[in-house]
Amino acid sequence: MEKIYMIPVNDAYNEEGGCPICRLRDKSEMNYLEYYLGPSLMEPDTRKITNKTGFCPVHMGKLNQSVTNRLGLGLMMHTHLKDFNDDLNPKMKAAIPAKAGLLKGRNPDYKQKLNAVADLIDKRTGTCPICDNMNEAMGHYVEVICWMFSHDKDFKEKFLRAECHCLPHTALLLRQAAKLSQNEASDFTEALYTNNSQTFDSLISDVEYFTLKFDYRNTDKPWGTSKNSIQRSMRFLSSDGRDFDEQQSKKQS
Ligand SMILES: [Zn+2]
Ligand SMILES: [Zn+2]
Repeated sequence: MEKIYMIPVNDAYNEEGGCPICRLRDKSEMNYLEYYLGPSLMEPDTRKITNKTGFCPVHMGKLNQSVTNRLGLGLMMHTHLKDFNDDLNPKMKAAIPAKAGLLKGRNPDYKQKLNAVADLIDKRTGTCPICDNMNEAMGHYVEVICWMFSHDKDFKEKFLRAECHCLPHTALLLRQAAKLSQNEASDFTEALYTNNSQTFDSLISDVEYFTLKFDYRNTDKPWGTSKNSIQRSMRFLSSDGRDFDEQQSKKQS
């Protein structure tokens, strides 16, 4: 089993709170953002990729927020726009339908051509090397998590004690469990199930308590663990925490 993935996995499970796999994802995203804003941006091999792919909206946003390498971002953007333009524009021009007149009949081929150009745009704008690299890293991480669960007692304990595994990452773990032997999959899935149902139970009860706090009779009761239960539920349901932090909901109490 690849050791380079074990250390970050252990670190993520040693940290308290939330989903450890979300932490792995955030760290890996940060590494790749730094990578693509670093000296690699000027390397021909990287540029060959970014010229073709550009970045997805989420990662363009994150690169935009970073102020570390504006020149590199500009140079990358310049060659990407040129590459996109060279690819798209001749095809788009060729797809302009000829007007149907008396001499030239109607030709429904134009529909296919227009859709093909739209497909090309969707395909190119949908690709992102940061997403690709992250997906690959996450694949290795879940593989290592399943392996360590069966081979490392300490890790198994940590896995069982994790505050939660968010639902999208639960799905990722289930897909990995489907690749294990039946007995290994049995232990792992049972642990995942237990962890998951505990999370559901505690969130359901915290969110209910949250709503009951709005009853004037409960005004003086303490919030307990319910205060940020809406945000914790959002993070559990969707894994992506960009707008789900407690700072974003000022009206809460
Ligand atoms: Zn997660
Ligand atoms: Zn992306």
